[in-house]
Amino acid sequence: MSIDISKLTITLAAKALRAKDFSSKELTEAVLTEAKAKNKAINAYAEIFDDAMALAAHADDMLAKGDAPILAGIPIAIKDNMLYKGHESTSGSKILRGHIAAYSGTAVERLLSCRAVIIGRTNMDEFAMGSSTETCSYGPVKNPIDTTRVPGGSSGGSAASVVMGGALGSYGSDTGGSIRQPASLCGLVGLKPTYGAVSRSGLMSLASSFDQIGPFGKTVADAQLLFDAVRGHDPMDSTTVPEGHSLRKAKPLGEKLTIGVPESLIATDGIDEDVRANFRAQIAALRSQGHTIKNIDLPLIARSLAVYYIIMPAEASANLARFDGIRYGFSKEADKLIEVYMNSRGEGFGKETRRRILLGTYVLSAGYYDAYYNKAVAVRRMIRDELDRAFESVDVIATPTSPSPAFKIGEKIANPLKMYIEDIFTVSANIAGVPGISVPGGTVIRDGVSLPVGIQFMAAAFQEDALFRMGTAIEQSI
Ligand code: GLN
Repeated sequence: MSIDISKLTITLAAKALRAKDFSSKELTEAVLTEAKAKNKAINAYAEIFDDAMALAAHADDMLAKGDAPILAGIPIAIKDNMLYKGHESTSGSKILRGHIAAYSGTAVERLLSCRAVIIGRTNMDEFAMGSSTETCSYGPVKNPIDTTRVPGGSSGGSAASVVMGGALGSYGSDTGGSIRQPASLCGLVGLKPTYGAVSRSGLMSLASSFDQIGPFGKTVADAQLLFDAVRGHDPMDSTTVPEGHSLRKAKPLGEKLTIGVPESLIATDGIDEDVRANFRAQIAALRSQGHTIKNIDLPLIARSLAVYYIIMPAEASANLARFDGIRYGFSKEADKLIEVYMNSRGEGFGKETRRRILLGTYVLSAGYYDAYYNKAVAVRRMIRDELDRAFESVDVIATPTSPSPAFKIGEKIANPLKMYIEDIFTVSANIAGVPGISVPGGTVIRDGVSLPVGIQFMAAAFQEDALFRMGTAIEQSI
């Protein structure tokens, strides 16, 4: 039987499985065939798992009994930093080559318990540092829409796996934009949940106070299903909170929302003119749907990037200290212990990872701690307060997701500052711990190719529903 994966959403596949149009085994086989065929050119997957068909068979048993969870039998991909017991998990790094997960993370456990079919682990920037998936130890991932371009990062493989038809949905992690930016560059919906909405247990830590696992879907409805499957309190992650936790009351369904637009940020230099024009057109469409548009002043949000690139490397340098060539993965033998550390870390980590470890160690060192780290933490608090105040008068804040459409492979990799600017619109959600979504909102033409661009919405903590409502509104206006 031939199943056209390219247009198949999770919502449609779940219906078809229940109507017995096809089984999970048939669906999984079709997805695996596509994944294997396309992976040679795209490199979305570090590994396509051998046991996916066995999971599909289990899912079919559960579906036959009726009352199966909505993700039962649905082929999905996970990022290479999400632990899955018995499977290799490397965070895209040479230093973890051959590392087999000793347990599954909570998100993965929840997917398995609802009988989702985990197809494989996807390529990512090393330890999730990057915006292009070019720093992956398995080689760069290509954007399936135009293979001369990057898919975004760091969860570029998770985005590409869905676009190329190698999964119906996927999960990534977002520390400063790593779900939303690739979603934008690949034409998908990507959600960074509220900090504390999804357990980080079994997610390899990058910057623990920013990291969140979240989904990629072809539609807002799919992203919502994937989010619902993994969210909720987990005793293994004390930062997670019980269901339904929110400090603010959501507007009743059907009521129009107030959308805040930080005009001065959007007018900043360095933002692609077409991206800006496209954003304004989408906002106009939302206005004509009856939503209220309000210009908001967020002077501190422009400092987010500076704050992020101090706190994030600081936390990363501490988290990555455990990779010492002794306990995990790659190790270089030497006579002295210090040489084992130096050689293993020097060779096992790539350039960007070493750069951030150096930066992070520097801002945490005696004498600079107050000048950099403490100051950044204080400004972080001010940014949180600024956003908190903003959400008293608006339901969501809208911006473009990224300042440019998918760029060429190699275009920014040699210039870290150019790469870091990719995060200008996304990092503030991580700094404040609030949720953010990117939804496809129009296209721009580059070299004759129509490239997708995303619109980002942020909302107050635990107001993901407002994001889904806005996402649906954009879907309806296109
Ligand atoms: N691009 C950002 C960085 O390099 C975000 C990474 C992420 O969200 N994991 O830090």
